[in-house]
Amino acid sequence: MSDITLGIIGGGQLGSMLAIAAKKLNIKTIVYCDDHSAPAQNFCNNFIAAKYSDRKKIIKFVNLVNFVTYEFENIPFETLSEINKLKPVLPKPSVNRLIQHRLAEKDFINNINIRTTRYVSIKNKSEIEALEDFLPGILKTTTLGYDGKGQYPINSIDELNSLNIDFSKGYILEKLVKLKKEISIIITRFSDQKYSIYEPIENKHEDQILKFSKIPAEIDEKIYNQSKEWAISIAEELKYVGTLCVEFFIDRNDNLYVNEIAPRVHNSGHLTINAYNVSQFENHVRAVCGLGQIPLKKISNAKMVNLIGSQISYYRKSTKFNENEFFFDYLKKEIKEKRKMGHITTLI
Ligand code: ADP
Ligand code: MG
Repeated sequence: MSDITLGIIGGGQLGSMLAIAAKKLNIKTIVYCDDHSAPAQNFCNNFIAAKYSDRKKIIKFVNLVNFVTYEFENIPFETLSEINKLKPVLPKPSVNRLIQHRLAEKDFINNINIRTTRYVSIKNKSEIEALEDFLPGILKTTTLGYDGKGQYPINSIDELNSLNIDFSKGYILEKLVKLKKEISIIITRFSDQKYSIYEPIENKHEDQILKFSKIPAEIDEKIYNQSKEWAISIAEELKYVGTLCVEFFIDRNDNLYVNEIAPRVHNSGHLTINAYNVSQFENHVRAVCGLGQIPLKKISNAKMVNLIGSQISYYRKSTKFNENEFFFDYLKKEIKEKRKMGHITTLI
């Protein structure tokens, strides 16, 4: 074992896979999570189940670790900043604050001259009535959304009237992009101009939840290069440390847009575990814990399919997988509809 202990906030599948990657590097992990049954407890060295607002438990956790990172972005800025006074939190709390707010995130991206979808801040229903130009569109909560949660597709003003939307929350209205394709870029930044970037990954969503990812993405050279350039600019501008994902839209006229940034490891990058010499998880742990960077090498093309809800049951029973198939069960106790339960990566 090395002397390093990494603290991970959040105990879902991303926390689990970070803990697995850390173990490979002889780094101990302590996961802090508000869910007593969180799956990462199966993979980490030490598990603390407590509320994110429990100061005493947070301090206890921080005292046990050398570095702190997180597997999801919806952690209050105040909590991360408090922790950061005691131990380095990476990515920086300020980066997380920016990205967890859809409006701030999109303003930031546009300010560095990178294209996003058209969007507008919305505080009440009557504002939307004057914005027919943005329809068909998607109304999204500015904070706390994931896997399509907190999103309302709106085709017309009439449709808006039939929806029961809680306007005590902030929203943005985004013009719907006529999608040809979605891609993502995973990049791990270590320090100034020092990063490992994976090739673009092509993604398919069903019900706004990621279902399939594959490399290589079927895209032209211009989009291949531009998506990489934009991901590098974003990571550099944020002075980011760790693994970051940029999600992109490609419209039917081959225009590229940044959809959103995830300040963390990402579901579309699960195939990097088997398709590259260093996975997005290992790279994240390396960057956050100040370990050296290893040149990134692709081993194989790959595709990944998410097992959502009861789709996991069949695979839990089957023991036969081909040599090129890798089944991951997140070991979540309860099967729920729309819940990501596991995935299968196939090297192709
Ligand atoms: P989440 O935070 O839930 O991942 P996203 O903004 O990435 O939210 O939306 C989830 C998915 O919904 C996207 O990957 C895309 O498939 C679809 N979507 C979201 N916004 C738009 C848009 N403006 N135009 C077309 N499709 C969209
Ligand atoms: Mg998304």
